[in-house]
Parts: sequence; C-alpha cells; structure tokens
Amino acid sequence: MLPAVEAESLILKLVQPLSAERDRQIVLLPAALGRILATTVTSHLDFPHWDNSAMDGYAVRYSDVLHCTTEKPVTLEIVEEIPAGQPPQKVIQPGQAARILTGSMLPVGTDSVVMQEQTQRQGDRVTVLRAPEPESFVRHRASFYQANSPLLAAGIKLNGPEIAVLAAAQCTEIPVYRRPKVAILSTGDELVEPDQALEPGQIVDSNQYALAALLSLAGAEPTRLGIVPDRPSALKAAIAQAVTQADMVLSSGGVSVGDYDYVDRILQELGAELHIRAVAVKPGKPLTVATFGAQTAANMQEQLETASSPTLYPARQVLYFGLPGNPVSALVSFWRFVEPALRKLSGLSSHWRPVITAARSQRELKSGGLRETYLWGQLRAEPTGFSFLPAGGSYSSGNLINLAQSNALAIIPIGKTQIMAGETVQVMVTHRPLT
Ligand code: AMP
Ligand code: MG
Repeated sequence: MLPAVEAESLILKLVQPLSAERDRQIVLLPAALGRILATTVTSHLDFPHWDNSAMDGYAVRYSDVLHCTTEKPVTLEIVEEIPAGQPPQKVIQPGQAARILTGSMLPVGTDSVVMQEQTQRQGDRVTVLRAPEPESFVRHRASFYQANSPLLAAGIKLNGPEIAVLAAAQCTEIPVYRRPKVAILSTGDELVEPDQALEPGQIVDSNQYALAALLSLAGAEPTRLGIVPDRPSALKAAIAQAVTQADMVLSSGGVSVGDYDYVDRILQELGAELHIRAVAVKPGKPLTVATFGAQTAANMQEQLETASSPTLYPARQVLYFGLPGNPVSALVSFWRFVEPALRKLSGLSSHWRPVITAARSQRELKSGGLRETYLWGQLRAEPTGFSFLPAGGSYSSGNLINLAQSNALAIIPIGKTQIMAGETVQVMVTHRPLT
C-alpha cells in the first residue's frame, strides 16, 4: 500500500498534459471563462494607453504651482476642458491649466494633476491652494503594462480578472486547451439507473452521476458509458471502448479482492501498465492506476505482425483510474488523486495539488491510525481563521448521505488516532469554504 503523497507524486508523474499545439482550440471571449490559456498572450497596446488623470481636477505644469500655499495661492487660466473619451486640443503654456476628469488624457505641457478639492474656481480661472506632489494623480502610459511583453502566460485558468484583461487588450478570439475527455463506467451486477425500479439487493449507480458532475465542475468533458455487469467479456469490451475514446478513464467498483473484481486483470489483458493497486488511505484503499501507451509506428507494426495481440494502443496515452465502488471512497479518491491528475492533463501549468489548510476542529476526530484517514465535513472561514465541523452521523465509506453539504476532508495522518476538539487539523478543500 502506497502512502497518499507518494501515490499523488507518482500519478502526477504519469500524466502527459494535453499539447499546446495539437489540443488547442479558439473560443470567443465570453466562452473562455474557466478555460486554460494555451498560448501566452501579448498585446500591442500599452496600459494605460496614454498619460491620464486619476482624479477630477486640473492638469497643470508643476513648475507653476510648486511653491503655492493657502497664504500664497497661484491662479491659472483654464484654457481647455477635457472630458473623458476626447483628446486634448491645446498645448498648455506656463500660467495655464486644463480642466480634466478621471481617465482623461493629460494635455501636452502638463505633468501633474491638482485635485478639485484643493482648488477654487472663478469662471475661466482656477486658484490652486496647495502645491501638489510632482506628477501627482497622473497615471503614466505603460506604467501598468508595456506593449509586446507577456500579458497572460500560457497554462493559467481564465477567471473574471483574466477575462477583463483579455477584453481590455481587445483579444476576442482566445486560444485555449480543449477540455480533457473523460469516460466513466460503473461496474457491478447490483447497479441500476436512477429511474429504474429497485429490486431487493440492488442499488442505484450514484457514482456515475457524481463523477460526471465533479468532472464537469473541474472543466472536463465527461462521457457516461453506463453500467457494466461483473462479466469479464462485457468489462473488457467496455474498458476497450472507453480507452479508445477518452484521455482519461474512470471506472468504479471491481478493484478490491472480491470474487467479481475483474478490473485489474482485464487492464493487464489489454496491455495496460499497472502502477498502483492500493493506497494507504481510508476510505479509498483499493485504487488502481494504470496507463495505456500511445499508438506508435513500432507498436502498430507489432500489432500487424501478431494479429492476435490483444494490446490496446489508443491514439494518445490514456490514464486509467479504477476507483473503489463505495460511494464515499470513489469521491474521496477523485478529490485526492483524480483531480490533481486532471488539472495537469488539462494544460494548467501549476497548482495541480489539492488545497490543504490548517483549521481548528470543532469536535473530536478519531481514526484507526493505520491509514491516512479522511473525515468529511464543513470547512468554514471564520474571522479568527478556518474551522472544521465534521459531518454528523456515521463515517462509513458507504454512507453518501452525510457527504452532502460537506466541502472538505480533515486528514488524520498515519500513526495518529485522535484529534481533540479545538486542536488544529489539516483539511483538504473540496469546494469553496463556507462562511
Ligand atoms: P466493489 O468495489 O465493486 O466491491 O463495490 C463496493 C461497494 O460499493 C458495494 O457495496 C457496491 O454495491 C458499491 N458500489 C459499487 N459501485 C457503485 C456505484 N456505481 N454507485 C454506488 N455504489 C456502488
Ligand atoms: Mg462490485
């Protein structure tokens, strides 16, 4: 059994990210939200585009007003008014000023802005009551960004601020990575669809829907391939289909040591390389991680020569996660191991690992101490820092009911059996913290 951090590192090493050239698509600006930028964006514009005023006031020549005080004010002639959106028409001479509004272009000849509150106006004259700082309230051209330098780096996620920057830079067609394709299948003779009548002994395949939902939230394109019975031939056909059509495959169930747990065997029969078969976490111990190598000229030739070769070579490397069937285990494994892999696969250049923060536990937390234990509950942002409130009820890997409304997993390290109420615990964020 591999410790969780080692499993995480190994999985991240196995991931081959989408290619910035082959897996790039162009989307219109409003559709770019949440996508990963595939190319570094530069702009031919400086920001600000020109020297402009940060205040409503008067554009002046600093040398005219540097000595003025309330006792010795300086009066200037207002020769122009510059509303926002219009270029100045005049060059300001000594003894002159221009009325200026926030964002307006600074007229030639001026170098400072006096805020309105420090002036008195009489018709076309303005009296400056206090000397401004040199270059006060002037936003200089290119002081925020210099044209043709990198504006947004490839591999970042586009959120609101980045959309604003792209809009301001007049980028309307955005190169982004395509969404990773992830195929999902559920294994188990006991499973039925949510709209099917339940016979005794059957349960609904909730994993398929939960995983599809989490994948969509993570920016992937999930395909639900449905329920596969615990029959090796059916499972083999379903896995082969999944592997040929996706970048990543998630199956749930059939990876522990039961009589009907065929997933690992079939992966091997299909020529996958198995890297992980169990991780020292609770819940989520049975976890299979495998890779299918990409089709190459050499392996194509090999397949032609040995027509009976069962080895499956997809067009690109496919990462396979055989998740445990228990509903909580499946989701904990998703958050802990699949999501980081997905982030790297999607083209994100950093921040692949989960967000883990310290929080004060509001209740006593218990663990068997033999495996790293994840207890679900609510991470809350309090004025004094984060707190963690464990979900009430039973911590069973089969209890998905109290998983609802949780947004975090407290992590109890191997060797520790108890965290007292009020003690600090490491907490992994699965959704935005509650307040
Ligand atoms: P398995 O890993 O196949 O032995 O499954 C472990 C437990 O998880 C069993 O009780 C299954 O009934 C349950 N289970 C397996 N697959 C699913 C699924 N897709 N949705 C909900 N529960 C499942
Ligand atoms: Mg099963």
